Amino acid sequence: MQRAAPRLWGAAAGWRRHLATGVTSASRGRGSDGPASVAALARSGAGAYVGGGGQPGAPGAPPLVVHNPYTGGRVATLSDGGAPAAAAATAAAAGAATAWAATPTANRAAAVGRWADALDAAAGDLAAVLVAEGGKTLADAAAEVAYATSYLRYYATAAAAAHVEAVTPIDLSDGGGGTGVVTKEPVGVVAAITPWNFPLAMLARKVAPAVLAGCTVVAKPAAETPLSALALARLAPLPPGVVNVVATADAAAVGDTWMAAGAVRKVTFTGSTGVGVGLARAAAGTGKRVSLELGGLAPLIVTADADLPAAVGGLLAARLRCSGQTCISPGRVYVHRSVVGAFASALADGLAAAAAPGDPAVEPPDGATRVGPLIHSGAVHKVQALVRDALDGGATLVTGGTVVPAADGGGDAGHVVTPALLTGVTDRMRLFQEEAFGPVFPLSPFDTLDEVVGRANSLPVGLAAYVYAGDPATGRALAARLQAGMVGVGSVALSDARVPFGGVRLSGVGREGGLPGLDPYLELKYTLLG
Ligand code: ADP
Repeated sequence: MQRAAPRLWGAAAGWRRHLATGVTSASRGRGSDGPASVAALARSGAGAYVGGGGQPGAPGAPPLVVHNPYTGGRVATLSDGGAPAAAAATAAAAGAATAWAATPTANRAAAVGRWADALDAAAGDLAAVLVAEGGKTLADAAAEVAYATSYLRYYATAAAAAHVEAVTPIDLSDGGGGTGVVTKEPVGVVAAITPWNFPLAMLARKVAPAVLAGCTVVAKPAAETPLSALALARLAPLPPGVVNVVATADAAAVGDTWMAAGAVRKVTFTGSTGVGVGLARAAAGTGKRVSLELGGLAPLIVTADADLPAAVGGLLAARLRCSGQTCISPGRVYVHRSVVGAFASALADGLAAAAAPGDPAVEPPDGATRVGPLIHSGAVHKVQALVRDALDGGATLVTGGTVVPAADGGGDAGHVVTPALLTGVTDRMRLFQEEAFGPVFPLSPFDTLDEVVGRANSLPVGLAAYVYAGDPATGRALAARLQAGMVGVGSVALSDARVPFGGVRLSGVGREGGLPGLDPYLELKYTLLG
């Protein structure tokens, strides 16, 4: 759909700046044949990396086949070690734990820094892996590699090492006790379970602080996207057993093995609420620590006096990122009634001009954002069902919502949905109750700030929220009232290795990133010196 240039954003087009953010890698997903390449990972065929090497599959177990979500083609066929590989990984991690914990923190930090260097050197290969297994666009894949590397860089800094090493003396002499000394120790073996939407970055965000803290790791990637996790482990310049990966189609078998293992002292999970809550229950049996990063359904609030081009640009950037498949994606857009018409019109124009649905491995036209495939046909059906539900309830589809046929027209392929803009969405519709996890832009008008705060806080989740307000004081006041772990005021670029990422209520437990992101991997020890 082509439209005349809208009055609202004109030549200065704030949204173009937003869309350009984060697309910096020159490599743009062009792979070679290094150890982290699709070719090398497929050739190896090992679905587990345990004790510093590939692990054979369980006898008789069917292989784990990795498909390209866009082409439907087979990317790799991996051995699936299932529960036996999970047990072997636990043994390897437990075996490596004592020596790694005793390694000076400065040396561990240096190793994490070399790991970041290895990711930089393999950036093109890693981006190609993300395009092949996850259907990421070239830009999203390059941005994810950079994001993953930033966690390794951050946890290689002297500030992070100092946080691990910090010793706090407390004078207790007035109570006759002497001096209390508080030190930190690694918790031990950590189980990390990660989703398919950021398979490299979510794992890097967990293993970097864990390894710096002196922990060892057993990790399970999603069955859809195992190659990037295997690549990350293969690139780690760490002693055997410090980082182990088990890819499997039987997530429950691996998860159950680790949750039951006394040697595993912590679980860190990113994924759906149901699975996370189940893991937390199972982890309780052996007294494990638990960190959960679960879903959300982020509200984005646009006040009557907001800078509409900036708000449209922010929404486009945040919602088109990974074709809407991010947990902090703004899925509920509340716009003041006095400007909702203008906002919808500008958003439609922005989508027509900037969104380029199609092959994720092909560069979009200059200045446009490629909208790639959803992860599988189930995800497409979910988007379609939620849009249908809204239309049945009286919402209006302004544009989009169609499925682009796969290039070859056959098999389980394609999965590209054109960005859908809906107006007149209400809180009772499924789009405002569940994550669509796709490129859907549902708009709903509001009248008062009290009303919109109440509506934004009405779900049991609270991961991210966004505010565009003309008056900065109003923006900050709204941010303070929103029940979310993270709020972007006038910006959607929340993700950064230096800040604590996480949610409240059913969106999760704990934070990842920044110095607070180290604490879940550290036990405090109080020693009384009399
Ligand atoms: P999504 O709906 O995004 O696929 P999931 O919560 O199902 O989210 O998946 C996130 C991660 O949790 C994946 O690695 C998946 O394999 C894993 N997982 C799913 N079920 C279980 C389970 N019962 N035990 C352990 N891990 C699981």
